[in-house]
Amino acid sequence: MPVSGSIVEVFASLQGEGLYCGEPQIFVRLGGCPLRCLYCDTPQGLEAPAEWIAHLEPARRGANPVLADGVADLVRAFDVAWGAARTISVTGGEPLAQPDFLAELLPRWRGERRVHLETAGVHPAALERVAAYVDHVSMDWKLASTMERGRYDERHAAFLDVIVARGLDACVKFVITPAVGDAELAGALELVLARASRVPIFLQPATPDRAVPQGPSAERMDQLARLACARGAAVRVLPQVHKLLGIR
Ligand code: SF4
Repeated sequence: MPVSGSIVEVFASLQGEGLYCGEPQIFVRLGGCPLRCLYCDTPQGLEAPAEWIAHLEPARRGANPVLADGVADLVRAFDVAWGAARTISVTGGEPLAQPDFLAELLPRWRGERRVHLETAGVHPAALERVAAYVDHVSMDWKLASTMERGRYDERHAAFLDVIVARGLDACVKFVITPAVGDAELAGALELVLARASRVPIFLQPATPDRAVPQGPSAERMDQLARLACARGAAVRVLPQVHKLLGIR
């Protein structure tokens, strides 16, 4: 029996975060997320919606759940509309919260397309299942002061262990709010660097919105970058470029 899953939307845009920032990509946003980040900028991804939308001209809509074949057809429609086969970024919500669906979907693009996985990095067993079909993992490391609830260091560490064991290309991103303290970031960096000393690390200032009305100052980002540098991290500070550009 084919496995179906829930998607929110499919769209083409520029990657706005992490190692491949600026790259034109096709985004497949899956629905549903078990986490609750205070800075969440994709509230539409928190629950699986009844209906999905593909931002083509004209837009296409359909009902969830959807089969993997249907998602692959939508990606092909973007290829035609944009005249090129872009990297596919599978995002959320939390894509790895639907491991059966991902295991059905991602092999369709194996050897044909670059597949990026944007994830909160708390489902190590699910990553193990689909690792063979992923070209890059953009992993968020959730600092406790940025969450409504929960601490995830242990699960993040186990997830990074899978990335290292499978030799996956990856980067680790910390979203920085004004509440993030030096000791909190230093503790998390210690866990990362003990496993992957050269993994690219991004410090991403939270983009101000209703939940986080003010982001950290430039001076604060500089302080935290120095803290990371002093520990030998391959660190970069990068705001959400798609937000700066005013695009999806
Ligand atoms: S993991 Fe992503 S989708 Fe889930 S709450 Fe955090 S920012 Fe939002």
